[in-house]
Amino acid sequence: MTLAPYAAREDRSRGRRHPEAPPQGRGEFQRDRDRIVHSSAFRRLEYKTQVFVSHEGDLYRNRLTHSLEVAQIVRSLARGLQLNEDLSEAIALAHDLGHTPFGHAGQDALDDCMKAWGGFEHNAQSLRVVDELEDKYAEFPGLNLSFETREGILKHCSLARAATLGDVGERFIAGRQPGLEAQLTNIADQIAYNNHDIDDGLRAGILSIEQLLEVPLFARFHGEVTARYGALTPRQLRHETIRRMINALVIDLHGETARRLASANLPDIEAVRSHPEPLVAFSDTMRRDNRDLKRFLYEHLYRHHAVYRVMHKARRIVRELFEALFGDLRLLPPGFQAAALNADDDAGRARVVADYVAGMTDRYAQDEHARLYDLKQLR
Ligand code: MG
Repeated sequence: MTLAPYAAREDRSRGRRHPEAPPQGRGEFQRDRDRIVHSSAFRRLEYKTQVFVSHEGDLYRNRLTHSLEVAQIVRSLARGLQLNEDLSEAIALAHDLGHTPFGHAGQDALDDCMKAWGGFEHNAQSLRVVDELEDKYAEFPGLNLSFETREGILKHCSLARAATLGDVGERFIAGRQPGLEAQLTNIADQIAYNNHDIDDGLRAGILSIEQLLEVPLFARFHGEVTARYGALTPRQLRHETIRRMINALVIDLHGETARRLASANLPDIEAVRSHPEPLVAFSDTMRRDNRDLKRFLYEHLYRHHAVYRVMHKARRIVRELFEALFGDLRLLPPGFQAAALNADDDAGRARVVADYVAGMTDRYAQDEHARLYDLKQLR
């Protein structure tokens, strides 16, 4: 497979933090992907929520299936644009590794708890997982991934945090772009969650087809499907509509990005990084459609009272876990306890507690909360 000149290339990689001999029988970015898939943080994604808490039903998306969907979307886009497919896949599989239990509700609660000590950002936490927290290689902490994979994982972060992150933080301060594979994964993430959230929302009975007809993109393909097939089961109708939406978004993104790349005429990835704006983008029409879709989901799904109620409780679980553990570090399990007791100050101790809480699955967080607070069960 020929790579475009502006694609990320292994032979011009900015390398790993701890130098290693080149891999045999696979490339550098394939090695990154393999390390990600073998990490414990990756396995835990299965029990972490996107929107619906895992006990609500086994068929809803979790962060593992979400990450696989992102990887699948980004790989076909990368291949079509002659970008680095292996790198795109590695970034996609790792992009949510730092997510807390209970999706954004958990992240917001932990961010509040950490206010005095620099806050908590899930993107920065994904990087922290692969750089430091995975602990099983003899020669280095974390997974020692390539710069390009780490660059892609850190989609956004505050300027204050960027200043503490070394090489991967520089671009936020300098106002530079990440490589195209990172840009592509960022949008593939949105394509995946917007569409699977519609699917899950419909199956949960929280969204209805009638409501969704106010979203132009949905209405267009819903019309196309009913005109073509007439009566379908709700499942067929849902799926036939959503697969067309995903396809339309992917094709539009491919077309607009290819057009921008052709007119920018970039010699290499450094030119991508110093380009004044991202090169991976939807056309204007699709950007508007996508924005309407997002807005709809905010209003009707993420803020729906049934979803909100669960998330309200989830925030409380995360907050109370943090309070109990930070209040008495002896409640932490041995590894985290040692790290917290060795920390120099409150900021260091709070960060260890945040690492521990962020690593929990939804289920584990609920159980641990019960173990700490439920006085009827002494265990
Ligand atoms: Mg994601």
